[in-house]
Amino acid sequence: MRKVKTNCPNCGAPIEPYKTKCEYCGTRYFDFTTFDIEDNVPYYIKFKTEQGIITTLATVELNEIEFIQDPVYVTTAPGERIGSIIANRHCNLNVTFHTLPSEKNLFVLEK
Ligand SMILES: [Zn+2]
Repeated sequence: MRKVKTNCPNCGAPIEPYKTKCEYCGTRYFDFTTFDIEDNVPYYIKFKTEQGIITTLATVELNEIEFIQDPVYVTTAPGERIGSIIANRHCNLNVTFHTLPSEKNLFVLEK
C-alpha cells in the first residue's frame, strides 16, 4: 500500500489520510486518495448501517465524478446581465463496491 501524505484543507497542517479528522484544528475530512481505484485489488470496506457495522471485502469501481455548479444571473432588465453568482455547488461521486467472498465470510455484521 502506498503512503499518501497530504495537508488539511482548512489549516494546512500535515494530515494522515487514513484518519478522518485533522489533529491540529479538528476539521473532518474523508480522503479517497487512500484508494487506488485502478489497481483492482480488493479492500476490506467497513461502513455503518441501521442494522450495524458491516465489514466486507470488495473491489472499488469508480463510475463517475461530476462537479456541478449552477450560476444565478443578476440582471437589471430582462436580458441584461450584470453578473452572476454560484448558488449551488456539489459533486456527485458514483462508486460501486463489488463484494467478494473472503476466505471467511461474504460480510461480517457487528451490532
Ligand atoms: Zn487542520
